Amino acid sequence: MTPPDLAGAGARMLALMRETFDLPRSLTGDGVRRTLAAIDTLVPVQVTEVRSGTVVGDWTVPPEWRVREAHVTGPDGARVVDVADSPLHLVGYSTPVRARMDRDALLAHVHSLPGRPDAVPYRTSYWVPEWGFCMRHRDVEALPAGEYEVVIDAELDPLGSMTMGEIVIQGTGGDEVLVSTPVCHPGLANDNLSGVVLLAELGRILAGRPAPRRTHRILLSPGTIGPIAWLAANAERLPRIHAGLAVMCVGDPGAITYKASRRGDAPVDRAAALALAHRPEPHELRAFIPWGGDERQFCSPGYDLPVGAISRTPPGEYPENHTSADDLSLVGAEALEGSLAAVLEILEILEGDERPVSTNPFGEPQLGRRGLTNRRGGEKGNQLEMAMLWVLNLADGAHSLTDAAERCGLPFPVVREAADALRAAGLLAPRAA
Ligand code: ZN
Repeated sequence: MTPPDLAGAGARMLALMRETFDLPRSLTGDGVRRTLAAIDTLVPVQVTEVRSGTVVGDWTVPPEWRVREAHVTGPDGARVVDVADSPLHLVGYSTPVRARMDRDALLAHVHSLPGRPDAVPYRTSYWVPEWGFCMRHRDVEALPAGEYEVVIDAELDPLGSMTMGEIVIQGTGGDEVLVSTPVCHPGLANDNLSGVVLLAELGRILAGRPAPRRTHRILLSPGTIGPIAWLAANAERLPRIHAGLAVMCVGDPGAITYKASRRGDAPVDRAAALALAHRPEPHELRAFIPWGGDERQFCSPGYDLPVGAISRTPPGEYPENHTSADDLSLVGAEALEGSLAAVLEILEILEGDERPVSTNPFGEPQLGRRGLTNRRGGEKGNQLEMAMLWVLNLADGAHSLTDAAERCGLPFPVVREAADALRAAGLLAPRAA
């Protein structure tokens, strides 16, 4: 059953995608700032600037990259490529250039995909000073011989900064749940804007609900170095992280894929398996591999945080990935909404889990006397009654509601409802904080 606050979520996420699609995101710069500002109109975003040159882990925050214009003019005076048409046309972090050169010299700096001649590739050169353009292979093949004028009016500002955003849903207890996505790709829809809009909508929904037990922290930061910088700045917070999810590539039509944390048996791994088993769409569970998105940093051996990864088709496994074919036609409201519902259900299991203690463990308590037997009849009533028997049987303070849901094969919300009914009847001790 769809929670009422999810209604219209798919359309809202698509609208935010359209609004932010062409912003010139990169590791640094105004593209990320303007993306976070657009989200801030839906739910408050706490913005952090990390100064260029800051050493984080084995990395250094790069200079802030700003581009005013970048284009190539052909021998006949026509523009053959212009970043004004798409941010993909310029290699990310291109160094400034103003030069004339022949076609062969230009082609040494042009990237295209012979196997996908109508798609523009996405390329960056963050850590090696380089410049380049990305074009349709069909257009590259049509470039005439002659002299070309190359203009890249860009700066790499050593006094700039890298921008990260957090949406914080304050909890009533001290522990935290972390949800993270990269926010550095320009002009691409599924990777990684789909994760950005999903987390914006997740924040909006959670902010409208009663305060959770655990603080939910939603991190939007540039890929790789963003999570590394966040981890370096939040060392004292890390022991309080109960669970985390790295989210990306969640808008394509592929099946939902959950990749376990490095630990493999963390609460989030069990919650994801439980939630996805009862969702009305296909899914795949995978073991951890050190490849993918933000989870690579959270699950590095020095941190080893209980963070799993959720996507539809994982990054690198769909042919449109890192090309202009990863556009708004690849993502759909239904896919986004299904991914969001899956994330919410995983978080709800983490939030709703507990290790209940029976007040009446010597023999079965008498449910009928307390109005707890299935008087209404029907399958839902039968499920609830069966869930109550499982919860009571496992309510020894050592077993959790997740254990009960795994063993009885019923959806977690039914088990949670059973525990609530038993507690209301005085059969479970008050819930530990
Ligand atoms: Zn990517």
